[in-house]
This record gives sequence, structure tokens and C-alpha cells, in this order.
Amino acid sequence: MQNEHDTTRRDFLKRGALAGVAASLWPAARVVGERSPVRPSMRPAGPVAISSRNGMRAVARAMEVIQQGGDALDAVIAGVNLVEEDPDDMSVGYGGLPNEDGVVQLDASVMHGPTGRAGAVAALEGIKYPSKVARLVMERTDHVLLVGKGAQDFARMHGFPVENLLTDRAREVWVRWKETLSNQDDYLPPHSPEDRDIGMYLEEIKRHWGTIHCSAIDLAGNISGVTTTSGLAFKIPGRVGDSPIIGAGLYVDNEVGAAGSTGRGEANLENLCAFLIVERMRMGDSPQQACLYACERIVDHTRLARLQDDQGRPAFNVKFYALNKAGEVGGAEIWGGGNTFAVADANGTREVELAYLYRGEPG
Ligand code: ASP
Repeated sequence: MQNEHDTTRRDFLKRGALAGVAASLWPAARVVGERSPVRPSMRPAGPVAISSRNGMRAVARAMEVIQQGGDALDAVIAGVNLVEEDPDDMSVGYGGLPNEDGVVQLDASVMHGPTGRAGAVAALEGIKYPSKVARLVMERTDHVLLVGKGAQDFARMHGFPVENLLTDRAREVWVRWKETLSNQDDYLPPHSPEDRDIGMYLEEIKRHWGTIHCSAIDLAGNISGVTTTSGLAFKIPGRVGDSPIIGAGLYVDNEVGAAGSTGRGEANLENLCAFLIVERMRMGDSPQQACLYACERIVDHTRLARLQDDQGRPAFNVKFYALNKAGEVGGAEIWGGGNTFAVADANGTREVELAYLYRGEPG
């Protein structure tokens, strides 16, 4: 006869076996430099909201919604809306830096833990709140991802006004970029993986990233998340980053936790790190350990010379944020030291340090 203890033990053995397989399949990153100490898991009391650092107001707002009994998805969307509509945040929504043609193109995704549903929009133009449209894709279509004109038509159908999202400030930055164009774009000449100098600045791959990810646990213990961005500044029109791709820029499993990212989306698209982080937490990693693991995966998979510094390390940064079902939170980045992310719980809002693999700036 089976009892609870047997089940637990079997699950434990199963996890142990999986971890063994994982260890042999996935060797540690080739280069691990001056890594930050792994800290004991942070466990705020009760419900919690986390976000990238630009979301201090977002997590505070999300907690307000949660304290009033709101669902975690309502909370995180209400939180990031503050940043999407803020003309001074040039990395998200209204006021975001435009693409190569001077057009603001937005990416966003949402995931609702309790129902396991997801929705997303990519390369969406003229709509101030892409996270709300992503939610409508989830709730009012049988699809997960709408892009470009189709996404805009869908938003209009649901009453969103089409607006000019290019503020004067963002336009002036774009004009300056246009006027100083040399090798500062995203087109590459033919080259081989070993080619280091292909006429692209290392500076270039550190250029103008910025996004907000926010995830939360509500009073019922349910988890949801959102990631929203104007993406890489001056990107090739139609370029889609990791933010709207479920499993890359966002992933939620209501039984395990949530993860999201900011930084060089291309690296995350090739490694699906939000999914990886949630799966590592399922296997027993703390949120911070899981985020560090994803950083190591990117380091290990960054094999093109043009993307490496002279020691073979990524010449760019990616940051991850995660929380688990127990309410523990953590984050990590490839390059760092002193950088933080935003956390809010019943005791208020604060910044928590991100762990890192390498101390300093990339490149
Ligand atoms: N990850 C986003 C993208 O690649 C940009 C960012 O977070 O800075 O579009």
C-alpha cells in the first residue's frame, strides 16, 4: 500500500535521478569567472511581486492590487502599465526608442499560472499598452501570439486607440543615431564563426537594451507574469526579441514559479531561459541558483567570436528574475556587481541584489 511518505520518497528519487542525468548532459559553463556568492534564498512574507529594476513603482502597484484581493495577472499588468505609459522610460511602451525606420515597435507577453494560458504580441505599432493586448490575445482568441498589423488590427477591434508612440525625446535620439550611422546597425556581412572583427562595434551589442518583467504571487498563492518592451533600439524593422516569446522572455508554472528576462534577447531566444529557469526550480534550485544556471548556459553557448570579449566571455549582458511557489525570489545576470531588481511584499518595496557570473561590465 502506498503512503504519503512513499510518494515523497519516490518523487525525491525521481528528482535525484533527473538531476544526475542533467549533470552529465549539461556540464558547467566553460568559463566561470568572479562569480558572486550564492546567497540563501530570500523569502518575503506572504504574497510578493518582483520586477526588473525599472519596476519599483510597478511592484508597489502590483502589491496594492494583490492586497485588494486581485489576481496576480491583474496585478502585474497594472504594475507594468505605469512603465508602458511613462514617456521617460525609453525602453518600454510610449516613449520607447524606435526601430531603424523611426517607428516604435513593441513586444509583450503574459502568462496566467492558474489556467496555464499565455498571450503575446510582437512588432506591435501604435498601441500604448502592449501587455493589455497580449492579455486579450490570451483571453479572446484561440491563439498565443499575434504580430505586426494583425496585432494592431486586433487591438483596434478591442477599442485601443492607435497613437503616435514616438516622443520628441526618442525621435531626437533616433535622428542622432541616423546621423552618426557607420557600422552601428544590425546587418552583418558574410562571415565565419571565428571572425572577430566584422566591422561591428562590441559597443554595438551592448546597445540600448531595456524591458520590464514583472511576476507575482497573489493571496490565493497563484502565480502570473508579464514581460513588455520596445526591444532593441534601432532594430531592423520586424525584429522580435525574447520578451514576447513564451519560454524565453517569460514563463510561469503555477505549481513551480515564474521567470523573466531583460537584456540581449537574441541570446535568450537561442536558450529559452525562462523555461529553463522554471524547470531548474522544479528540480530543486532556488530562484537565484536557477537564474545563475541560465546565465551559465548562455556563456556556454556563446561561441561566435564576434560576441565574445578577448577572454571568450559574452560581450553582452542578460538578466533573469525568478520567484518560486514558496515565495522565494532571486535574480542573476552574466555581468554585474551591485545591480539590483525590485521586490515588493507586505513589508514594502525594496531593491535586492542580482547575483552575477562576472564582475564588471561586458566587453
Ligand atoms: N530583451 C529585450 C529584447 O531583446 C530587450 C531588453 O531587455 O533590453 O528585445
